[in-house]
Amino acid sequence: MINQMQERYARHFNLKEIGLEGQEKLRQAKVLVIGAGGLGSPVLYYLAAAGVGTIGIADHDKVSISNLNRQILHTSADIGRKKVESGAEKLLSLNPEISIIMHDMKVTPENIAALLAGYNIVVDATDNFTSRFLISDYCFRLEIPLIEAGVQGFEGIILTIIPGETPCYRCLYPNPPEDRKAFEGLGIVGATAGIFGSLQALEVIKRITGAGKTIAGILVFDGLDGSFRNVKWSQRKDCPLCGQNPTNL
Ligand SMILES: [Zn+2]
Repeated sequence: MINQMQERYARHFNLKEIGLEGQEKLRQAKVLVIGAGGLGSPVLYYLAAAGVGTIGIADHDKVSISNLNRQILHTSADIGRKKVESGAEKLLSLNPEISIIMHDMKVTPENIAALLAGYNIVVDATDNFTSRFLISDYCFRLEIPLIEAGVQGFEGIILTIIPGETPCYRCLYPNPPEDRKAFEGLGIVGATAGIFGSLQALEVIKRITGAGKTIAGILVFDGLDGSFRNVKWSQRKDCPLCGQNPTNL
């Protein structure tokens, strides 16, 4: 078993940032990925491949053919299946040494605290503002690091929110825009989701192993000209969540 494990993760062991110690931290980590779609697919694949020991997948949706230009966790044969089941099958086939917990549910204010309980890090891979605000508010209150990203067309953004270390999501957007199911139905190139899901997975792996630093500020990518830029992000004194006079959201 040790030999097999050593072979599977051999390319981690000669990285000074991971090594045997980091691999053990990955094995002990419990990471929740909310959304098994365009962002969730690469996040989940890379976390499973890296040997994250317990991975939760939360999604209430079923696979449809229009998902397949970007949701590479699912195949044409999975159309009509629950995404959590299709996803769990692929991840365990890639790495049978890990545990997958399926949460076949839509995240709501009533169930989110119970869903997040016990996870060390949360990855938001949802596609609407209602879920984003709900997830980011609760991660902040429960002091769980959150890796947030959003993609559309050829563009995307990513930010890592560490309660007590970074500003919160409401420092960026104090209140949810009217939920027009923000990204639903908008165009997206699958590769753009691939880039941001991969960046989210890398942030998780760094956080668990202690490698490097989290992304500073907000990393913004414009795929049409291939440019990345960092946008400064600071705490708002009047932030309704982490400011001096928080409102009871
Ligand atoms: Zn804030």
